[in-house]
Amino acid sequence: MLIDLHTHSNRSDGTDSPTELIENARAAGLDVVAITDHDCTDGWREASEAAERVGIVLVKGIEISCRLDGKSVHLLGYEPDPDYGPLVEELERVIEGRNARLPAIIERLRGLGIDIDSEDVLRWSGNAAATGRPHVADALIELGVVANRDEAFDRFLMPGKPAYVDRYATDLFEAIGLVNDAGGVAVVAHPWSRESRKVLTVDRFRKLKEAGLAGIEVDHEDHDDEARASLRQIARELDLAETGSSDYHGTGKIDFELGCNKTPLRQYELLLHRRSRQ
Ligand code: AMP
Ligand code: ZN
Ligand code: FE
Ligand code: FE
Repeated sequence: MLIDLHTHSNRSDGTDSPTELIENARAAGLDVVAITDHDCTDGWREASEAAERVGIVLVKGIEISCRLDGKSVHLLGYEPDPDYGPLVEELERVIEGRNARLPAIIERLRGLGIDIDSEDVLRWSGNAAATGRPHVADALIELGVVANRDEAFDRFLMPGKPAYVDRYATDLFEAIGLVNDAGGVAVVAHPWSRESRKVLTVDRFRKLKEAGLAGIEVDHEDHDDEARASLRQIARELDLAETGSSDYHGTGKIDFELGCNKTPLRQYELLLHRRSRQ
């Protein structure tokens, strides 16, 4: 059983349509794939239809932009009720924050002498409910300013870089509560990538578990072997499920191919079990 529990479509910052994502997942030999676009469930319907057609099990998820101690943390929510009012309202707030940020980033870039406007970005973000910095990166690639998304982040878009603009994100504890209240299960995505490593200590994970966290994403390309070993130990100590996934973004992220990390069947079943218990 090949199980990949974290992928993106062009409803956020992936480059595949939901249908292409599912077809590519099938072609990669996956048996189970989760669609987890940033802060939206817009790809679910198309992905469900495609999954039924090609014969793959689809897990419907979201990756919620969260904050813990001022640092960015991503939370995966699997199979929440997409119509649960408080969750819908919170996701709308996050999406509004994303949309308000785009013109501010463009303004910064123009201030740096780069001739970019909202039309340039819209060509790349047009299918997305959740717009993001990767769409700005794509526009910068097209304009010949950078060679790829990584370079755009390194030079302009990361915190501390000249075109970085902050945006609203949900308090992590609140997000875990919302996912659970909506009947889903919550898993912290790539806990030790970038800035979140500083704030996600064992003690924090213990508190998050008490707040309803069901698992942590251990196997992810942002984690080296040492990080994976430590996170696995934490998961076992705290009785959290350990997942693995690609965080596939189509052609938007190099070396994050579908199925490059996988979730063991037992861990997947553990998550399903935790959901059904609610
Ligand atoms: P945003 O949604 O605008 O906050 O941008 C976050 C998205 O950009 C995530 O999907 C990340 O995968 C991607 N991202 C963040 N940092 C980098 C980076 N240094 N290089 C490439 N992609 C990145
Ligand atoms: Zn992304
Ligand atoms: Fe993420
Ligand atoms: Fe992701």
